[in-house]
Amino acid sequence: MKSTLRRTWAEIDLDALENNYRRLKEKTGQNTKFLGVVKADAYGHGSVKIGRKLAELGADYLAVSSIDEAMELRESGIEMPILILGHTPKEQVANLIDYKLTQTITCKAKAMEYQDAAAHLGKQLKCHIKVDTGMSRLGYLVDDDCFDHGVEGIAEACRMQNLDVEGIFTHFSMSDGETQETKEYTRHQFDLFQRVFTEVEKRWGHTFAIKHCANTGAVARYPETYLDMVRPGLLLYGYGKYAEELGLRPVMSLKTIVSTIKIYQKGTAVSYDGTYITDKVTRVGVVPIGYADGYHRCLSGKWKVLTADGPARQIGRICMDMCMVDLTDCPNVDVDSEVEIFGKHNSIDEMARLADSIPYELTCSISKRVPRKYIQDGSVVDEELLLRNM
Ligand SMILES: *Cc1c(COP(=O)(O)O)cnc(C)c1O
Repeated sequence: MKSTLRRTWAEIDLDALENNYRRLKEKTGQNTKFLGVVKADAYGHGSVKIGRKLAELGADYLAVSSIDEAMELRESGIEMPILILGHTPKEQVANLIDYKLTQTITCKAKAMEYQDAAAHLGKQLKCHIKVDTGMSRLGYLVDDDCFDHGVEGIAEACRMQNLDVEGIFTHFSMSDGETQETKEYTRHQFDLFQRVFTEVEKRWGHTFAIKHCANTGAVARYPETYLDMVRPGLLLYGYGKYAEELGLRPVMSLKTIVSTIKIYQKGTAVSYDGTYITDKVTRVGVVPIGYADGYHRCLSGKWKVLTADGPARQIGRICMDMCMVDLTDCPNVDVDSEVEIFGKHNSIDEMARLADSIPYELTCSISKRVPRKYIQDGSVVDEELLLRNM
């Protein structure tokens, strides 16, 4: 479906994605496999379009959070390997196999369930083992007292007849930290991970084809952790504190237009609750973007949007569907003029900081009523609006 409005839209720059992919490949090496994380609709960028582009660019793997996300990619014709990072109910093992998906195995009980279900079907389920080295989320526990038990559990899963264990991975919880403590924590996680797979390989008598752990922070800061495959998300989309130094460019720009302009006298209360009172004669633009589009209300009065005439301060409360901006110093901005909320020239990282959040959360919360326009070679090649998933 296409939007009939020119209201608010997100431009997804596939040229920037290509640039980012190539830069990251140069950094991580041609012999290191590349997994693109496209969970949560590719961090709000549209997983089908991003997945297709990554396939075209030669990426080796994609990762999503759930089987629903994975099946959506398969149904749109993406054939490359897909790793499901989260749990899948055992009733879905037939689908996992039919759709040629790779399932994460996080503990002994799940390994047994998947083994039983796959044996019942007389088929093999492709898996990667997840190790909890300090994130304290999913994965086999392997710290101090649990080491032997954890390693034995993993080796046991590897020996199961109907599980085809291709890989093993762990996830860093502080790899983007800058303090000595976070560095030590990350090194400890990595050391533990290495000890675990080395020990499992010894007991199992095989080697894992794909060992991986490097997320964004580790790709940027810990080259020794690349192993067989890297697994960045945020960096691929060109955000965060490492993006610039690595020559990466932001993929998404959130844009809107000025829908109405009015001149208010000094002393006028603007928007809900009158939190902003004009301190001069003010030329106010109404822009049709609000918190229902993903422009969070907590940013009310804090951010400057970018116009062709320079920055314009957003004033008063952000409403559900619109908000107001001060255009007094932007005399050439008129009704229908384009406004950038964040993007190439208005950094999402800074906006996230003001929202007491992270760029991940901002792009993920661009809502479904915002059409995504895909740009390639400088022009719009595709548009997607998914109000209902039909
Ligand atoms: C989300 C996720 C990633 C990607 O994280 P970034 O910080 O975006 O690079 C990698 N691995 C796992 C297991 C994840 O859940």
